[in-house]
Amino acid sequence: MDYDVIVVGGGITGAGILRDCALRGLKALLVERASPGNATTAASTHLIHGGLRYLLYDRLTTHATAWDAGHIAAIAGPLLRRLPILWPLYREHGHGPETVETLLEVYDDFQAMKGGLPHLRLGAAETLRLVPALRPDGLLGAVSFDEWWVDPVALVERNLEAARACGAVVRTHTRVTGLIVEDGAVRGVRCSAQDGKLSEARAGVVINAAGPWAAEVSRMGSVEVPLILRRGTHLVYDRRLVETALILEAADRERIVFVIPFENGGPGAAVPEGASVSPLAGRGGTLIGPTDVKQAGGPDTTAPDDAEVRYLLDSVRRWLPNVSLEGHRSMAGARPLLDQGGGEKLLSREFEICDHAAAGVAGFLTVAGGKMSDFRLMAKEAVDAACAKLGNQEPCLTHRQTLDGRPIPVRPPVPGPSRPLAKFLRRHPRLREGYAYAHLAVAFLKHLLRLAVSGKQEVTADDFRRHYSLKP
Ligand SMILES: Cc1cc2nc3c(=O)[nH]c(=O)nc-3n(C[C@H](O)[C@H](O)[C@H](O)COP(=O)(O)OP(=O)(O)OC[C@H]3O[C@@H](n4cnc5c(N)ncnc54)[C@H](O)[C@@H]3O)c2cc1C
Repeated sequence: MDYDVIVVGGGITGAGILRDCALRGLKALLVERASPGNATTAASTHLIHGGLRYLLYDRLTTHATAWDAGHIAAIAGPLLRRLPILWPLYREHGHGPETVETLLEVYDDFQAMKGGLPHLRLGAAETLRLVPALRPDGLLGAVSFDEWWVDPVALVERNLEAARACGAVVRTHTRVTGLIVEDGAVRGVRCSAQDGKLSEARAGVVINAAGPWAAEVSRMGSVEVPLILRRGTHLVYDRRLVETALILEAADRERIVFVIPFENGGPGAAVPEGASVSPLAGRGGTLIGPTDVKQAGGPDTTAPDDAEVRYLLDSVRRWLPNVSLEGHRSMAGARPLLDQGGGEKLLSREFEICDHAAAGVAGFLTVAGGKMSDFRLMAKEAVDAACAKLGNQEPCLTHRQTLDGRPIPVRPPVPGPSRPLAKFLRRHPRLREGYAYAHLAVAFLKHLLRLAVSGKQEVTADDFRRHYSLKP
C-alpha cells in the first residue's frame, strides 16, 4: 500500500483533512485537478462566520459553526481580519428593528465562541456618519456585528503547507479519473496529470472531498451521495464602494446581501505576496453578494446568469441610490449542500461523513455539505472515520497547534452542540425550524422587557469605531 489515506480534492475541505491526517501520523496523499482552493472555496464570501441567518431555522448549525470558527480563529489567526458589518434598518423592511436586534442578541451568545464582539445599535444620524451613501429617507438606524474575513485560498495553502511539513504529499493539476475497486472495496485512485501522465496510487482509505464534484467522484465507486448544488454569485469591483461593510435587505425582501469593502484580498500584510490566487488577491475593492439559486447543470457549468446580476444590483441600488454600480465583474460557485427534506428555504448547512461501506463499498468515505467555517470539524470527523477503518488510535490535533506549528494553550472547553439532537432534527426540518423559532420567541420577550426597563441603547459612530478598533 502506498498511503494510509488518499484525499480527492484540494479545496478547504480536502486541505483540512490532509493536515489532520498528517498531524495524526498517517501517510497521506491529496490529489487536486487544478490549483488548491481554485473552485468553490475561492468563490465564497471569504467569511469565517457563525451563520447568523441559520438562527432562523437551524440553530444547531450556527452553534457548531461558531464553535469550530473559534478553533479556526485560534489556528489561523494572522490570516483573519475582524470585519465589522453594519445592518441598516429601514421603516419598510420586512423585519422590524426589534426583531433584527433580537436576532443579534441571540447571535451574541455564539459570537463569544469565535472571538466575536457583542453587537451594537446606532440611531439614524450616527449610521449616516459611518455610511453617508445610505439612503436617509426611512432610515431608523442600524445594528452591527462582526465576522472574520479571510483569504480562502491562502487558508487552503497554509493547511497544505502544514500537512507537507509532517510528510504529506500534494499532487496538483492531476485529476482522479477512476477508483481502483477490488473485492467490494476501494483500494486507491487512478490519476491523469495535466501533462498527460497516467498514474495509480493505493491506500487503505480514499476520502472524497471534491465539493460540488463529490457526486461525480462517488459514482466512480458506483455509489450515490445526497448532494444538491445551490449557485452563489458575487459582483466584484476593483474600487471601494463604501468604507464600512453592510448587510442589506435583498430585492426579494427575504434574503440579505453583503457589501464588503476589502483591501489587498482582505488580510493585507498577513498574506505574503504570491501566497494566494484568490480572485480578490492583490487588489482593493468591493464584494457584493451572494445569490442562492438552483444550479441546474453539473458543477462544471457553474456561471453567473443575468438575472442574478440584476438581482444583486437592484438589491444594492435601493439602499445606496447614489453609488455608481458600473464596472463590475462576477464570480460564481456551487454550494455542495446535503439534500434534505423540508424545501429550499430550510436547507441546512450541516455536513455528513458518508461511509459507503453501508452501500457495500468499503474503504471509501465522502464528505457532503458543510462550509468553510467548520472545515476543521468536518476534517476531524472524516479522519476519525478513516482512523476507525485503519485501526489508528491517534487523537485529532488540529486544534492544538497553529497552522505554522506553534502550540495552542489548552483552553477551558466550550460546549459544542448535541450531535444526536442535530441528527434527529435533520430528519424533521419543520421541527428544527420550530426549535429555532422557540429560542427566538423567548429572546424577543427578553428583548422587549429590556427595552421597557432600559430603553434603546444606542451608541455613536465613534463608539462603533472604538468597539471594533477602527481608525477614527
Ligand atoms: C457563493 C458562495 C459563498 C460562500 N460563502 C461562504 C463563506 O463566506 N463562509 C463559509 O464558511 N462558507 C461559504 N461558502 C461555502 C464554502 O465556500 C464551501 O462549503 C467550501 O468552500 C467547500 O469547499 P470544498 O473543498 O468542499 O469544495 P471546493 O472548494 O469546490 O474544492 C473541491 C476541489 O475538488 C477538486 N476536484 C473535483 N473533482 C476532482 C477530481 N476528479 N480529481 C481531483 N480533484 C478534483 C476541484 O478542483 C476543487 O478544487 C460559500 C459558498 C458559495 C458558493
